[in-house]
Amino acid sequence: MSASNDPIADLISGRFPDARGRFGPFGGRYVPETLIPALERLEQGVREHLHTSAFQQELALELSSWAGRPTALTFAGRLSALWGADIWLKREDLAHTGAHKINNAMGQALLARRLGAKRIVAETGAGQHGVASAAACARLGLPCTVYMGAVDMERQAPNVYRMRLMGATVVPVTSGDRTLRSAIDEAMRDWVSDPLETYYLLGSALGPHPYPYLVRELQSVIGREARAQILERRGTLPDAVIACVGGGSNSIGAFHPFVADRAVELIGIEAGGRGMGLGDNSATLSCGRPGVLHGTYSMLLQDENGQIQETHSVSAGLDYPGVGPEHALLAATGRSRYETASDAEALAAVRALCECEGILPALESAHALAGARRWAASHAGRTVLVCLSGRGDKDMPTLQQTLLAPPHGT
Ligand SMILES: *Cc1c(COP(=O)(O)O)cnc(C)c1O
Repeated sequence: MSASNDPIADLISGRFPDARGRFGPFGGRYVPETLIPALERLEQGVREHLHTSAFQQELALELSSWAGRPTALTFAGRLSALWGADIWLKREDLAHTGAHKINNAMGQALLARRLGAKRIVAETGAGQHGVASAAACARLGLPCTVYMGAVDMERQAPNVYRMRLMGATVVPVTSGDRTLRSAIDEAMRDWVSDPLETYYLLGSALGPHPYPYLVRELQSVIGREARAQILERRGTLPDAVIACVGGGSNSIGAFHPFVADRAVELIGIEAGGRGMGLGDNSATLSCGRPGVLHGTYSMLLQDENGQIQETHSVSAGLDYPGVGPEHALLAATGRSRYETASDAEALAAVRALCECEGILPALESAHALAGARRWAASHAGRTVLVCLSGRGDKDMPTLQQTLLAPPHGT
């Protein structure tokens, strides 16, 4: 699987993805023939534009003047005193539209414009990536169509209205499981029908090559900023970086700039849901086996017949049966490790961050906090950087039902 006896040296050397879009045995391009020319064109576009100074300057200006970057690095003093280790928060909750997703959405929308695309298609589960895509497309004047499972449209109605306010067309997906999984299938189908004029703006570090690489490059702004900020503030690197893992984009963005810093532990936290039983969680790396989903070979929650399993998490953004292929390689080499946090641990972490620091985290991000709490219990006085991937305003209905007693008088 690797060229040397030191797989971590291979990771650091930047060999991945290789020319075939593989991260060791993972990744690749498992798609119908009809999609291959579109993926090859995208790969060539990424190679020609992404790392040019013209593109990087254009992206940097949008991120700073429109999306609110760099996001703050906050020392969580009262939470540190409570949990026993020094906790620093990378504040992606302060980014425009409320989460890290805008880094990827604006980056790909700019790329699409350079490639001459006339319209954008995107998929969304909880609606966060749909909102970020709709916002970026409005800003650039690109028509945007978002595929969303009919079940999710009902569960996440406010995000449907946000997308429509920004001029996007939201298309309900009534096939398959009527959630994110079928929405991705429909977006790909739309793309194949007109691959020259349409650009598919994928929302996480997954799918066929070059998406896992492209999304990692765009989200690495999180780790690059955080690394420089913590070096400036404390003079040394953190002992650990912790992030939540759904498809894997905020975590790969936070981890990637630290991969060469071998002394820094990288820990991904998956949704442990109600427990480790079949269908009770979305803990792909902890409970899954290798397989193909949405064009990439990675870890997957599936039964012995290869049927995709139902997933559960209190946080809609972590509720996906697959995970990006680079995480599968990071796990296989031991450079990062993956744990779970349950629904209950995540909810407790929401309360702790609200009460100690006056910050309402997204339920997804609360999984990373719950992981940091466990880490702190065995690393007193050490330092952990937590990627706070988003804000929790969107989760108020869930929080009202689970954390808050009914208001007086009802
Ligand atoms: C979508 C989302 C996630 C999960 O997606 P990743 O690709 O794993 O980052 C995590 N946190 C927030 C706030 C999200 O909106």
